[in-house]
Order: sequence, then structure tokens, then C-alpha cells
Amino acid sequence: MDYKVIKQELSRSDVSLVAVSKMHPVEMIQELYAYGHRDFGENKVQELVEKAGQLPKDIRWHMIGHCQRNKVKYIAPFIHMIHSVDSLKLLREINKEAAKAERVIPCLLQIKIAEEDTKYGFAPEEVKSLLASETYSSFQHIKIAGLMGMATNTENTTQVRMEFKRLQHLFQELKATFFKSDNGFKEISMGMSGDYKIAIEEGSTMVRIGSLLFGERVYA
Ligand SMILES: *Cc1c(COP(=O)(O)O)cnc(C)c1O
Repeated sequence: MDYKVIKQELSRSDVSLVAVSKMHPVEMIQELYAYGHRDFGENKVQELVEKAGQLPKDIRWHMIGHCQRNKVKYIAPFIHMIHSVDSLKLLREINKEAAKAERVIPCLLQIKIAEEDTKYGFAPEEVKSLLASETYSSFQHIKIAGLMGMATNTENTTQVRMEFKRLQHLFQELKATFFKSDNGFKEISMGMSGDYKIAIEEGSTMVRIGSLLFGERVYA
């Protein structure tokens, strides 16, 4: 496990690590927990909830995968951050369930930055109209803490870098337009096992790393 090496690398650039534990057993999470790691990411609500039930309560759980609206209620009471907010409808549901749980849930808006045809995420123009909308301003129980993006899965590092740059530029633009005096808009969640070094060079504040930490996932 490369945990210590990766942590050291990230600490030099003040980037935080979300350890993506999807499809790996709780024992592997406990191993990193014993080193003091607390931030773990899952991409499915059911798996996240099951694991959270078996593990210490001070783990900060990050939802990083597409989230169905009818499942928000299961994570709203405890989720630390939702990285994968990809529609206004989902944001409305999170706001509703967070209100019931008497919480404010930190959310990242997922942006489509990849060339490849990905299913989820906002186009940059959509995100601007969302942030300008009255509906959005009425939400009291969500906090937009930044942006998330996934680069194209390709060996072409020039393209990957360009996509990360795109996210960084959009972040700066939104910050200047909608979050000028709001220091809570600060996260750029980008970079995975294969591209996190490029992501850090392009301004990532949070990387989501799975296979480098836990090994390859076995898809049944
Ligand atoms: C699985 C996943 C990751 C981690 O992928 P690795 O290549 O294993 O590091 C990061 N982000 C999201 C959204 C994922 O689904």
C-alpha cells in the first residue's frame, strides 16, 4: 500500500486525499484508518451506508458517484460532502433532506470536462444559470464548496491537462462572479490514480484515489 508515499506527496502541495474504497472490504478501510486517515469516498449509496454502519463514526464519508434522488435520505444525516451534484433536482432533494436532518451539507457541482461522452455533470453554462437562479438562492441547507470533474480516460496527457485547466478556469470565473467574498467556495476535486499528478499541477485541492491505495477493483 502506497498510502504514506502518496500522503507525503500530497502534503507538499496541501492537497487533501479522499481514499476511494468502493468495491473493497471494510478491513482495507480499517487499515488506512489505523494510520489516521479519515476521508473515504464511495460511489454507491447502499455500499456507503453499509460500510458506514460497520466503521467508526469519525470517518468523513464522501459521496463521489451519481446519486439517485430517492437515495439521498439515507446519507443526508451523516455525509461529509457530496462531490457528484449533477442537477438542480438533486440539489433540491439534498436541501430538503438536509433540512430534515438539521444540517447544511457541503456539495460540489460536477462539471462535464471530458471530451468523451460522459453521462453526468453540468455544462459550464448550465452551472452559471443555476448559481444565478432564485431557486438556488432559496436553499438554506446546502453549501456549494466547489467543483468536481473527471478527465477523459486516455493516455493523452495533453488532453487530460487541458480538461483539468478547463475546470480550474471555470472555478476561478465562478468564484469571481458568485462567491467573491465567500471563502467556503474553495475545493476543486479532480485527479484519480492515473492522473492525480497532472491534476495537482493544474490546481486540484482534493484528489480521489482508489486503485493506487487499495489495488485493482475486481468487477464481478
Ligand atoms: C472510482 C472513482 C475514483 C477513483 O478511481 P481510481 O482510478 O481507482 O483512483 C475517483 N473518482 C470517482 C468519481 C470514481 O468513481
